[in-house]
Amino acid sequence: MNKNVNHITEEPIIRIGIILPEDKNTEIIIDFPNPSNYTINSEPLSKKLFVKCQSESILINNKLADKFVIEPNNSLNKNDFTIINSVPTGRRFHWQSEIQVRIPGKVIIQNHNGYLFIINELPLEQYLPYVSTSEMNPDCPSALLEAQTIAARSWLLANRKVNHPKLDIDVCNDDCCQRYQGVTDIPDKSLQAIQKTFGQVLLYNNEICDARYSKCCGGITESFENVWGGKPIPYLSGIPDFPPNNNQTDDLLNFIKSSPPAFCSERYVKPSDIKKYLGKVDKSSSYYRWNIAYSQKEITSIINQKLDLDATNIINISPLKRGYSGRITKLKIDYINKSDKNKSIILNSEYDIRNALHKQFLYSSAIIIEQKTQRNYLPEKFKFIGAGWGHGVGLCQIGALGMALNEYSAGDILKHYFKNIKIEKIY
Ligand SMILES: [Zn+2]
Ligand SMILES: [Zn+2]
Repeated sequence: MNKNVNHITEEPIIRIGIILPEDKNTEIIIDFPNPSNYTINSEPLSKKLFVKCQSESILINNKLADKFVIEPNNSLNKNDFTIINSVPTGRRFHWQSEIQVRIPGKVIIQNHNGYLFIINELPLEQYLPYVSTSEMNPDCPSALLEAQTIAARSWLLANRKVNHPKLDIDVCNDDCCQRYQGVTDIPDKSLQAIQKTFGQVLLYNNEICDARYSKCCGGITESFENVWGGKPIPYLSGIPDFPPNNNQTDDLLNFIKSSPPAFCSERYVKPSDIKKYLGKVDKSSSYYRWNIAYSQKEITSIINQKLDLDATNIINISPLKRGYSGRITKLKIDYINKSDKNKSIILNSEYDIRNALHKQFLYSSAIIIEQKTQRNYLPEKFKFIGAGWGHGVGLCQIGALGMALNEYSAGDILKHYFKNIKIEKIY
């Protein structure tokens, strides 16, 4: 993908995968509150569609076709949307569930090797308000919505077709790309804040920035290369998430164990504000500092299941390498296997570590591991003291909320998390 800003001269139309072939869905129900405002393959549309894969085609309400295209007559009508039921969200993460989404714009229904493939097609600026409000409550402070929208726009333009190269879409609707859960009631004030940023992106050396973000950095953001490998990206190198000249990050382990006053800490964001302003599918509210304890039996069973091992006991879990934020990027697990042999396995990414150490997915790999050993040499308990939620690279959403609640502007927020960038309107 060409990230150079000069090749974009007007607002692009984008394609978002809503139901992907990997979801292995073959049947779905779609509702239309205002069917008379739409057509399906240029014919009138009914209120309810029963969609089914039939060999290599699609069957909808007794009509068979290779592909169905549902188009709104007037794509700008705010009250027109398509309701798609049972859309997966948080695929492969601890918050995986199914939700109902309401999407504006054109909907394309196809059969992809026997499975449903549903695409939403619409102009980028119509999509963005629903990304910002899927990530955050629409009532949150304007500066945060503006910053989030500029970051989301930049990320999308820098990452079109990157995550799903085999499918004819730009992005999917989920955390794998950007969370997009469709139409919600956005107050006019918030919509104005979002629209104020029309066409604005982050630039570094005349290239659109790959503006990553995660829920909570834990007090220090992580550097790109420690999470995804490859070369460092200057504007995605880790920073202390503190006001200028207030660096408290000298000793990483102490830093994680204590609760220093970062922008994403309670000093700037009250727990009740996190609940109020976080996106609607996020359940817990303690992200800055948290802990979790396992018995020997529990952790053995989780690790066996996740890594397909035959461990009877875990002897030791030890960090070998940490990133700038304290996130563990290389971890060794020593264990005894069924044949009573001492074995070990090494995990080489924060993603694999988070996956292996939790039934679903650990909030972050910025953890201190405490092992309690009594009588024999095997630990009876493993306690993880953790910081943050997510990979921690780029903008910290809770920190950005903390800044916005304390009178920082969208520009202040973006320039804090992405060093040496420019904000520019490109169309
Ligand atoms: Zn994706
Ligand atoms: Zn933070």
